[in-house]
Amino acid sequence: MPELPEVEALVRFLDERATGHVVVAADLASIVALKTFSPPLSALVGGTVTGAARHGKWLDLAVRPGASAGSTSSTSGVPDGDLHLVFHLARAGWLRWSEDAPTTPVRPTSSRGGVRAVLALRVRFEDGSGIDLTEAGTRKRLAVHLVHDPDEVPAIATLGVEPLGPDFTRERLAELLGARNQQLKGVLRDQRLIAGIGNAYSDEILHAARTSPFRLTRSLDAEDVAHLHDAVRDVLTEAVATSSGRPAAELKDAKRRGMRVHGRTGEACPVCGDVVREVSFADRSLQYCATCQTGGQVLADRRMSKLLK
Ligand SMILES: [Zn+2]
Repeated sequence: MPELPEVEALVRFLDERATGHVVVAADLASIVALKTFSPPLSALVGGTVTGAARHGKWLDLAVRPGASAGSTSSTSGVPDGDLHLVFHLARAGWLRWSEDAPTTPVRPTSSRGGVRAVLALRVRFEDGSGIDLTEAGTRKRLAVHLVHDPDEVPAIATLGVEPLGPDFTRERLAELLGARNQQLKGVLRDQRLIAGIGNAYSDEILHAARTSPFRLTRSLDAEDVAHLHDAVRDVLTEAVATSSGRPAAELKDAKRRGMRVHGRTGEACPVCGDVVREVSFADRSLQYCATCQTGGQVLADRRMSKLLK
């Protein structure tokens, strides 16, 4: 799943490639992907892309409606201004940019799908280029909204602090941790508290902060909070620097290569050489280094102990 650094890279890429282009088609292949019905996707046609932005793990393509669409909206009482095509790639969604987007009619894709990525939405521009939103897997979670204001999407309106923004101070983090007594791993991934961090980067941040994923938020003293704050900034800043400027097609590999513990069960920790361990849950797993993060204590994991027997 793309997290803040990959989404930031995709947004910068889109902002550079798509801004100024006119939308000539916006075709939905997966009915379930589109979560809004008014305005319709056809309202994008004839409009000009004015830029791309990121809200947590959401991408936002802003489009200024064409002249005819603009006059319609003013008579129907709909607020003027840009339309926002906002989308969340979820676990198995992806964005593909093409210099030469297919002009063949978009066919509805089977909602059952499979391992192979299938088309959900195609947006084409006047110069022949275009964007495909695709999704693999059987559980379709990719979400596309067409709105006048990104805050119309509840998951965007309720996003927590932007971890690379000026509001994410040590004091803000201390306040946020002190307001609850929960495991750090869950708090870092909670989009309503801090926006943009998911399962992979929370593992990396906790490893960099040398802290257990299960540590309770209120057990951190001021120094621990400072370490965690530095780790959030450092891990995300480094990942953004690594990702940005890369074409969309290379981002997944770049993310995987940059991971020190996430997804590296059984490999050596690059800091201390201990083996990277895993705790698995029903639908995901976390990785950590016992020497670096838990004072050598191995966290309980039923599946892992079965495998090691
Ligand atoms: Zn280690």
